[in-house]
Amino acid sequence: MPASVLIIDDEPLIHELLVVRLRSEGLKFHHAFSAGEGLEAARTVQPDLMLLDVIMPGESGFDLCAQLKADPLTSAVPVIFLSGSTELIDKVKGFDAGAVDYVTKPFEAAELQARIRAALRSKRYQDMLAQRAQIDGLTGLWNRAYFDQRLREEVVAAQRYSRPMGLIMMDLDNFKRMNDTYGHPFGDRILQTVGELLTETCRTGDTACRYGGEEFGILLREADVQQSIRAAERVRQRLSEIDLEARGLRVTVTASFGVSTLDLTLDQVAHAQERLLSDADNALYQAKHAGRDRVCAFGLTPTAALTIQAP
Ligand code: GH3
Ligand code: MG
Ligand code: MG
Repeated sequence: MPASVLIIDDEPLIHELLVVRLRSEGLKFHHAFSAGEGLEAARTVQPDLMLLDVIMPGESGFDLCAQLKADPLTSAVPVIFLSGSTELIDKVKGFDAGAVDYVTKPFEAAELQARIRAALRSKRYQDMLAQRAQIDGLTGLWNRAYFDQRLREEVVAAQRYSRPMGLIMMDLDNFKRMNDTYGHPFGDRILQTVGELLTETCRTGDTACRYGGEEFGILLREADVQQSIRAAERVRQRLSEIDLEARGLRVTVTASFGVSTLDLTLDQVAHAQERLLSDADNALYQAKHAGRDRVCAFGLTPTAALTIQAP
């Protein structure tokens, strides 16, 4: 994927010049010709880098930069000023507005290229660290912090478009006994295997995370209760097909599943989110008490849930 660069400059000639001079860098360019257009484009495109003019009709590049840096949607995108001014005061203003670099026009192509490469290197590193902070080290799944944020976003979207949404909470059965019998490293191997299984089973748009120790959460976009139950049942089936070897023995692992779906009549996001989680938790509790290794759905009797599982 080529890095994307948003050029914000009121002078069309500068756009053309930049595209030509930076051709060898293999970048993908987006163009905006005013501060207002630039702000809009930055939000929708989410570029890897912005090249920003200082003097534009209306709002100045400095003001736009400060605005971009204050907006969580665009604050992480590095800004390089491309300015006609060589004044020290302007350079200081540029860096204070949040830019990573300040280049004066007319620019030297080789120097600008090198500065862009440097800014993009830092951006990639920063993106990698940001992503790593959201991933569970043992299983490679999303972690709980990411899941909670994602859950909120999905609830907002589901409410806005009145579309269904499912949540599966999954908890490994008698996992403490597995650890006690075969050792903690074996327990870790099980968790890793479950991580792989969930990654393989999840569809695009769905989100699987390690919610806690041996508990996992799966967010299902646009899934009603039947689809959510079937999705949970698919995971349960796949898990039952896996056996791991410990001390020359074949060990099978089971899990219990609690399914809930979004109540679209609750208009408050926080309430809807809380309800979704607590309903799934209650269903999970029900599955444990009914004997484990099964799927229960909130508001449905175990028999009703079983009927849905059989297509
Ligand atoms: P239940 O069927 O009711 O869920 O019983 P359980 O034994 O699975 O539940 P319990 O909550 O009593 O035990 C969970 C165990 O999971 C205890 C804890 O040591 C283990 N565990 C949590 N995180 C990890 C981990 O990262 N690695 C390993 N190996 N074990 C873990
Ligand atoms: Mg458990
Ligand atoms: Mg547990």
